Amino acid sequence: MKHLPGPVARLVEELAKLPGIGPKTAQRLAFHLLNSPPEVARELAGAILRAREVVRYCSVCANLSDREVCSICADPQRDREVICVVQEPKDVLAMEKSRGYNGLYHVLQGVISPLAGIGPEKLTIKQLLARLSGGGVREVILATDSDVEGDATALYLARLIKPLGIKVTRIAHGLPVGAHLEYADEMTLAKALEGRREWP
Ligand SMILES: [Zn+2]
Repeated sequence: MKHLPGPVARLVEELAKLPGIGPKTAQRLAFHLLNSPPEVARELAGAILRAREVVRYCSVCANLSDREVCSICADPQRDREVICVVQEPKDVLAMEKSRGYNGLYHVLQGVISPLAGIGPEKLTIKQLLARLSGGGVREVILATDSDVEGDATALYLARLIKPLGIKVTRIAHGLPVGAHLEYADEMTLAKALEGRREWP
């Protein structure tokens, strides 16, 4: 990097901070941008800034949204009696691609992870319980990842939700142990959802 002009080195450095982008790819992207007309860089920078400024979390389900209430929560065609609990907004995308689901979501914004210092209070669990205590929900599908933290979080939630008289199911069956929702293909995900069982 020492042979690069300062501003280029800085660009490479910033790009390399993005997930999945190593120093080589960062350099390739930086050179691509520098070889493109200035509008390309301007459009990209504008899109990043705009997304960062307008996007927030849905006040109901905590999914990413550009409005107070996200398009899924606002959709009158969705089954409001079923809530699928996922870890991250990207898991909502994965579920939506499987096309097997027509209920609502709740995004936890992570999983309980004592090692990383993430306790239940750092997740949107309080909001979920408030949603459920409002009534009208028949089933909660726990779709956290099927690894140690995902399972522990699901168990924690099941213990809180069951006493409310709501059916609790888990989709992990059919998904390999340790599987992350975002990497599951559409068929596997649709099957995992279809084969969900009352849990624990
Ligand atoms: Zn929402």
